[in-house]
Amino acid sequence: MGDTGTITTTNGAQITVTDTQYGLPGSIVVHRGVVVAGEVAEGDEVEASIDAVRRDRIRRNHTATHVLHWALREVLGDHVKQAGSHVGPERLRFDFSHFEAVTREQLSEVERLANAEVITDAPVRHYETTKAEAEALGAIAFFGEKYGDVVRVLEAGDKSTELCGGTHVHALGFIGPIKISSESSIGSNLRRIEAVTGDVALARIEEEEDLLRRVGDALRATPSGGSGEGPTPRRAGQGPRADDRGHPLERGRCEGG
Ligand SMILES: [Zn+2]
Repeated sequence: MGDTGTITTTNGAQITVTDTQYGLPGSIVVHRGVVVAGEVAEGDEVEASIDAVRRDRIRRNHTATHVLHWALREVLGDHVKQAGSHVGPERLRFDFSHFEAVTREQLSEVERLANAEVITDAPVRHYETTKAEAEALGAIAFFGEKYGDVVRVLEAGDKSTELCGGTHVHALGFIGPIKISSESSIGSNLRRIEAVTGDVALARIEEEEDLLRRVGDALRATPSGGSGEGPTPRRAGQGPRADDRGHPLERGRCEGG
C-alpha cells in the first residue's frame, strides 16, 4: 500500500494523493489522486507532503508483521511460514501455514513474546547482499516479493531476519503495543491472525477496558486488581444492608462509576 498525502502547486492548486506505486521498479513513482482545488498544468512546480500519521501506522504494522512471524515460529514451530499478508494503517493481517487452531494460550504467548521483543527497542536494520549469502544467514523470504540476485535483508531487532523491501520503523519501540485481535482458519492448514499496533492498539485496549467496566457495572463488580477505586469502605455502624449481606459481588461494587 502506497503513501497518501497532498500535492500543492505554486499557483495554489491542490491534489489529494490517494495512492503511490512504482511505475518502474526503483525509479518512477506514480502518484494517483484527485485535484480538489485550482487547475494543474504541465510544468507546474509542486510540493508534496505525506500523510505522516498514516505512514507511521503502516510502518508499525509492517514491522510488527516481521516480529509476529518470529514469535509465531517460536511458539508454534518452524513449520510456520508466511502465506500472505496485508498491511494497512488500521490493522495488519498475516496468513501462515499451521495444521490446527491456535489456542488462546498460544496466542497470548505469541503476543507476550512479540511485545517483549518490541520493548527491547532493538534497532531495525537493512542491507543488501546476494541471495546466496542471505540464505546462508538464514533469512526468510517474504511472501509475494520478487527477488533478483541482490536482495534486501531486513533485521527487525535481534530475532527476525527476513528478505523485505518494505518501509519499516527504525527501532522496535516505535511499534508500541501489539495486540492480536483475531485468529481464524482460511483454508486447509492455513491460519490468519489480525493485529493492531501503536495508537490503534491503545485505542482498542481502552475500548476493551471500557467494555469491561460497563460489564462490571452491570454485574455490580469491580474487575479484579481494579483501578484503585475499589470497594468503598463502610463506616462503623453503617452496616451492610440486609439485601446485600453475603453477596461478594456486591461488596466489590464500584461506586460512582
Ligand atoms: Zn518488511
